[in-house]
Amino acid sequence: MPHIFCIANQKGGVGKTTTTVNLAAGLAQIGQRVLIVDLDPQGNATMGSGVDKRTLAHTVYDVLLEDVSIAEARQPSPKGGYDVLGANRELSGAEIELVNLERRDRRLKTAIETAANDYDFVLIDCPPSLSLLTLNGLTCAHGVIVPMQCEYFALEGLTDLVNTVKQVHANLNRELQLIGLLRVMFDPRITLQQQVSDQLKGHFGDKVFNTVIPRNVRLAEAPSHGMPGVVFDRSSKGAQAFIEFAQELVERVKGGKLK
Ligand code: ADP
Ligand code: MG
Repeated sequence: MPHIFCIANQKGGVGKTTTTVNLAAGLAQIGQRVLIVDLDPQGNATMGSGVDKRTLAHTVYDVLLEDVSIAEARQPSPKGGYDVLGANRELSGAEIELVNLERRDRRLKTAIETAANDYDFVLIDCPPSLSLLTLNGLTCAHGVIVPMQCEYFALEGLTDLVNTVKQVHANLNRELQLIGLLRVMFDPRITLQQQVSDQLKGHFGDKVFNTVIPRNVRLAEAPSHGMPGVVFDRSSKGAQAFIEFAQELVERVKGGKLK
């Protein structure tokens, strides 16, 4: 069974998609078999992996609603070294259509189980909301990775997410745990960021990953070239940080801190 992780934060623009594609590429570079599930109708993880969301025959929408298998719907990322179950605008309708289906919060879980032997890691890029789509992600995941910027309101926003994780754990998925908080777009010259980072460590202890992702323009440029920053400019500070993060995650997994 692969390790299935949601990359989640109900805020938009905090670095979820950047984390998903670069962690996937970083894991692929150290020999892991990875599938990205794009659960955001914006399809940024799909495009950022070099897969054109406009020309896909099948997307995650068909997997959730039409019983298309993951094997039929996935695409290889041409440069990333991993597979993508893509998304596009069609997925925004799924939210409403799912409501009337049986086991509506378990559709993704059932689908992933059929592809379980193909992967070491499944990374689910969640939309910026705590919606039925995100719930499908949380219901099939073993853990949640939360990218966050060290800003003034960061801790406040975390409370809702942590409570949602607790509720899903209690009601839908006993395996779900908070894996860790990843500090992203970090600028050590900004005193406030350093302070919030210290607060985070005070609050969450070793749930805060050791790796810190710096603000780095190469990571922002990479999606327009259809590839993760880790592939686009491997020597950049941002890419190096994501490779380090992939190693840290694998060590946590192997160290038995994660089941
Ligand atoms: P989300 O998926 O949470 O909405 P994104 O990953 O799309 O967030 O990131 C939002 C914006 O910030 C994007 O334009 C992205 O390129 C940029 N960005 C993300 N991480 C970094 C970083 N470490 N350094 C510089 N820009 C970043
Ligand atoms: Mg995104």
